[in-house]
Amino acid sequence: MYSVQSDGGFCLPCMLFGVGREGVDLGVLVSRPLTNFKKALDERKAHDTRSTHNEANIKTEHFLRVMQGHQEPVEDFVEFSECDTGITGQAVAERILQLLNSYNLDPTLLRGQGYDGAGNMAGKTRGCAAVITGQYPLALYLHCASHQLNLAVVKSAQVTSVRNMMGTSKKLHDFFHAHPKRQQQLETAIEETQPDARKKKIGTCHAPDGFSALRR
Ligand SMILES: [Zn+2]
Repeated sequence: MYSVQSDGGFCLPCMLFGVGREGVDLGVLVSRPLTNFKKALDERKAHDTRSTHNEANIKTEHFLRVMQGHQEPVEDFVEFSECDTGITGQAVAERILQLLNSYNLDPTLLRGQGYDGAGNMAGKTRGCAAVITGQYPLALYLHCASHQLNLAVVKSAQVTSVRNMMGTSKKLHDFFHAHPKRQQQLETAIEETQPDARKKKIGTCHAPDGFSALRR
């Protein structure tokens, strides 16, 4: 693989799936671009004998098999764990790595971590994510998507028009919900105008500070 930015060659499997460990030099084609093209064949041969390259090749094959639908990705909940050694970034990171170890999950294969934005988790130098990335640089930290949505809802609830909309939708919900006859009228109207609609009631979902919005 040629990089225009570095004006040199890299090994694609190693760049994607190479095992990254702090302080380990993976050499030309991984840590540094191949720029001496006259020696390209020799460099390539030397690189091909590296165990890290072979491991990366195997992982690439596994990845392609999953992507081509021959294998299913697996998503599993492991356990809740008490932070009995403290909640500093260092302590939480150590706890997570201990847990991975207890399940025989190899942290060198880590490619992502997701937490909320609390200082002890996301802090740039001493946060849990930074401690783990320091040891396993390929474990990219991303702000937890559910928490991002939560923050967006809390923020939007401060906007006047959104507050008004939520107030109106709550009144609309109460108008139908508390009166069976009105609810019946609503269901009849939905059946007449949208015969395929499966939802027949107006529900609300609750934002964290007590505001509610229409759910269906
Ligand atoms: Zn390689």
